[in-house]
Amino acid sequence: MERSGAESFVAGRGHRALSVLARVQAGWRRWREDRACRRHAIPDTLWQLTLARYPFLSWRPTEQLIRLRRLATLFLTQKEFSGAHGLVVTDEIAVAVAAQAVLPILNLEGGLHLYAGFVGIVVHGDAVLVPREVMDEDGVVHEYDEELAGEAMQGGPVMLSWRDVEAASEESAHAGWAYNVTIHEFAHVIDMASGGANGIPPLGSISARQHWAEVMEAAYTDFCARVDARCQTSIDPYAADSIAEFFAVSVETFYVQPLELLCAAPQVYRLLADYFKDDPSRHSAP
Ligand SMILES: [Zn+2]
Repeated sequence: MERSGAESFVAGRGHRALSVLARVQAGWRRWREDRACRRHAIPDTLWQLTLARYPFLSWRPTEQLIRLRRLATLFLTQKEFSGAHGLVVTDEIAVAVAAQAVLPILNLEGGLHLYAGFVGIVVHGDAVLVPREVMDEDGVVHEYDEELAGEAMQGGPVMLSWRDVEAASEESAHAGWAYNVTIHEFAHVIDMASGGANGIPPLGSISARQHWAEVMEAAYTDFCARVDARCQTSIDPYAADSIAEFFAVSVETFYVQPLELLCAAPQVYRLLADYFKDDPSRHSAP
């Protein structure tokens, strides 16, 4: 239906009023965030220790590290840490988790909303053994213990093993592929922000979801074939477990060993680079 000039004028005024309101709200939010960052500032020494522990953070330009520190501070004011089995969650532990958790959302406008679905982060001293059951093709149930270094669930909390968080860089060097339990679990959180864990993060349109699914499924199928054929892979073979794990391991590799992902799965690298508005290969080690 054609709109009359009067209707357009009313609609225009309403639109301007909304944009003024949006600017006021954005200013108010910025003021509250600035105040939170001043009150809960991460001490310099602790921040430098955290950067030194995780080279893929310290490689970043100064401008990005300033934003990362601010985002990590805001993350810390919004989340509640608890230690399991007597573990005391120190500032060192909380800042190590926060600095890595916010890396994927560093360049996303209002990126913290992707983590709004949960509050709690439970830190264990070491990996946790969880009893599991699986039924084989003959209907026989097998019981086993699964060792978990981390776990993310819809609605939270996120569980992490401090030993694995702390030793991520050494574990990567030892394993020969990227290993970072913090980024891995928060990639699952981002995935689940659009509903279930299906390897598809929140996207703005149906066509974007279709494109994402096509690229990831093609790369996942190719990767599984390589794992089944026992070919050497440059990303963790655990990624073959499911499309959700393929997404989480890809994100982990994208940030920690970006050149490996760029070589192994360039389509996936470009998909993640577009989504996260980031190009970690520019900041990797020489
Ligand atoms: Zn996983």
